[in-house]
Amino acid sequence: MKQRLINQMKLELDSHSINEGFARAVLSAFAAQLDPTVEELTDIKTAVSEAVTNCIVHAYPDHCGRIYIWAGIYDGGLVRIRVRDRGCGIADIAQARQPLFTTLGEERAGLGFAVMESFMDRVKVRSAPADGGAAASGTTITLEKQIRGRAAGGTADAR
Ligand code: ATP
Ligand code: MG
Repeated sequence: MKQRLINQMKLELDSHSINEGFARAVLSAFAAQLDPTVEELTDIKTAVSEAVTNCIVHAYPDHCGRIYIWAGIYDGGLVRIRVRDRGCGIADIAQARQPLFTTLGEERAGLGFAVMESFMDRVKVRSAPADGGAAASGTTITLEKQIRGRAAGGTADAR
């Protein structure tokens, strides 16, 4: 059954590293309306943080670009978050999603996608590499999580 979109938001920001915390806080505040457990909210914040950090360090490695975020809340408590950049793109998505794979050597752990996958129900990656002849390069990460909320058994306050 198709779920009905009941609330949505958009955020566009520069890829300065200081904006990673801002994006995480905004998405956390948006998701808080579902009355999530502390754990659910932490999962969302962590996944958003990984996706946005990837835009900052990988998509625009040597200049500041734009990051486009959209989030929607659906009937029944599904949260869908899209993080998009117009950066260099990913040449091999399957390889990039492998735990411990990184193109930044010692600097990074190569665990961002693995973290997103473990904390969210679904992670979708679409990407067009800059050298692939595509009209527009960039990467779109779609994250989904079903929020069950504090009413379903969580105890601590999520806000
Ligand atoms: P960590 O997240 O542990 O700091 P990492 O960022 O290298 O390390 P992942 O987040 O799993 O690890 O990403 C794996 C690889 O996918 C990156 O090294 C990079 O090559 C590529 N990648 C991820 N996101 C993007 C993006 N938005 N644009 C371009 N390349 C990306
Ligand atoms: Mg990463």
